[in-house]
Amino acid sequence: MIKTPSPAAYALLLLAALSSSCASKKPYATSNKIYQQQVKVIAAEISKPPLPLTDTLPAEKASEWVGTVNFGMRRPNYVVIHHTAQDSLGQTLKTFTISRTQVSAHYVIGKDGKVYHMLSDYLRAWHAGNSKWGSITDLNSVSLGIEMDNNGTEPYTEVQLNSLLNLLDTIKLNYKIPADNFIGHGDIAPGRKVDPGVNFPWKKLAEKGFGIWYSDSLQTPPPAFDPMDGLLIIGYDISRPQDAIKAFKRHYLPDVAQDAEWTDYALSVLYNLYIKKKTALL
Ligand SMILES: [Zn+2]
Repeated sequence: MIKTPSPAAYALLLLAALSSSCASKKPYATSNKIYQQQVKVIAAEISKPPLPLTDTLPAEKASEWVGTVNFGMRRPNYVVIHHTAQDSLGQTLKTFTISRTQVSAHYVIGKDGKVYHMLSDYLRAWHAGNSKWGSITDLNSVSLGIEMDNNGTEPYTEVQLNSLLNLLDTIKLNYKIPADNFIGHGDIAPGRKVDPGVNFPWKKLAEKGFGIWYSDSLQTPPPAFDPMDGLLIIGYDISRPQDAIKAFKRHYLPDVAQDAEWTDYALSVLYNLYIKKKTALL
């Protein structure tokens, strides 16, 4: 956990803040410096043996630290795509480089296609918030967060989407992330978040191997099919059914009414995805 910095970390942050009072020509020199210092604090933290476990056994059987020699860093296994819902890229970079906001992402992609890498892929960004996907309740710990510079109502630019696809190619290859683990913030936080919104081309992404999509030929689901089971299998949190249905429609049926009503077509789409996901899970 790095949310509450240790006293040592605070001292480093304070030093950095003081040194930044001299105006810098490089706009993010201060946050880059704080980043390096935070990384050092984390490195020091994980290089210490953990505190011994408390147990009730006699001293000779008390828990003991024995460091293994076989390990590596944990890898992200999900990608969560967002839109910034802000009016400028500068505003977003500022939001992610001041500590009081307590939010961040691994990558931000500008409308001109420029990619800003803001955090090592091996570290935990604070982008998902209160969210759930399948049985995962701490998406921040298992995912990379990518923010698209977009105010939520405008179309995405082609050059921005090309940069996203390039980035996703690299990420998928590096960390061997399954296709269906590329999802949106609105998928994991129904009722709370809507990004990346109805303008985001999920179908195009799925065609490139990022996310799942439904087949052209659909079948009518059997009468016993419960749409809530379908949403649950795909990954949606169905604790608030209306919100889950809206989240599903926003992602897979952006061109239809964004309400919580099921149409025959929407049910056929859901059933198709349910079968695909169920088959992949077996
Ligand atoms: Zn978001």
